[in-house]
Amino acid sequence: MGFVYGIDIGGTNIKLGIVDSGGGVVKEGMIPTGAEEGPRAVTARISKWFDSCKKNIPDIDRVGVGCAGLVDSKKGILFSSPNLPGWSNVELGKLFSEELNLPAIIDNDANCAAYGEFRLGAGKGVKHFICVTLGTGVGAGLIINGRLHRGFSGQAGEIGHTLIKVEGRLCGCGNRGCLEAYIGSSAIVERAKKMLEQESGNSLAGVEQLSVKDITKAAEDGNEIAIRTLEKTGWYFGIGLVNAVHIINPEVIAVGGGVSGAGDLILNPTRESFAEHVMNDIFLDVRIVTAQLGNKASFLGAAMLAFDHKQED
Ligand SMILES: [Zn+2]
Repeated sequence: MGFVYGIDIGGTNIKLGIVDSGGGVVKEGMIPTGAEEGPRAVTARISKWFDSCKKNIPDIDRVGVGCAGLVDSKKGILFSSPNLPGWSNVELGKLFSEELNLPAIIDNDANCAAYGEFRLGAGKGVKHFICVTLGTGVGAGLIINGRLHRGFSGQAGEIGHTLIKVEGRLCGCGNRGCLEAYIGSSAIVERAKKMLEQESGNSLAGVEQLSVKDITKAAEDGNEIAIRTLEKTGWYFGIGLVNAVHIINPEVIAVGGGVSGAGDLILNPTRESFAEHVMNDIFLDVRIVTAQLGNKASFLGAAMLAFDHKQED
């Protein structure tokens, strides 16, 4: 049985692991990204980390890399990433192959997370599956008929930039009315702040640099504004999911990413809104659940993509 390296390159940290074919993690670690050093130096640091811990694991034969941003997985190129300033048109696949002396597969981190959940988590055994990552950005990976669906140019799954309101709120992508502009973490915080302006004496009002985590905690403690903030967010999220479900007709939708820590406080209103907006009850058989692999989803998924690619050779 062979092993692969799994890597998840985020804006702040890189998660790394040596993974077996069943998804078991033999070694695991995290190093700072240091994107400003440039891709070659960062790749060299990753290689060093693996060198230091691969002893007694002789048969490592591939590497899978997940990376935030626009990725062409076929060509192994990272076009650009909002989290990795200056990394544009980087031949990441080639870079990793050369540095680690192994065949390398790269993909978008949302695709990797979806694939990880599909193989090892909330989408195990599910042939039609959507995994949504909720955080600062809102992305998704699509599994259609048991395969990761990347689309013609590898960019499928941008659920965060599907439009839910004509001429609506300005999104980070430059368009108006995108789902992300309503349910991304900064939109949630802004929603709470707006509600707080209308009510004095709320315990959240004094919190500096209010975060979704603070709002979730307050909601758990019964804070009405926090509860309503998450309810409204779920209401928008349900509309976004209706659009996705009408096109993909999945069996399960798993929700991961930082914001998903709010659990049913956000997912219950999401399910209600979904049921309210769906065009026919036939679509109500979809299960909307919390993802299971937490922040390991991307590096595990990248590793599993590396394994499965090997099997397709
Ligand atoms: Zn957008």
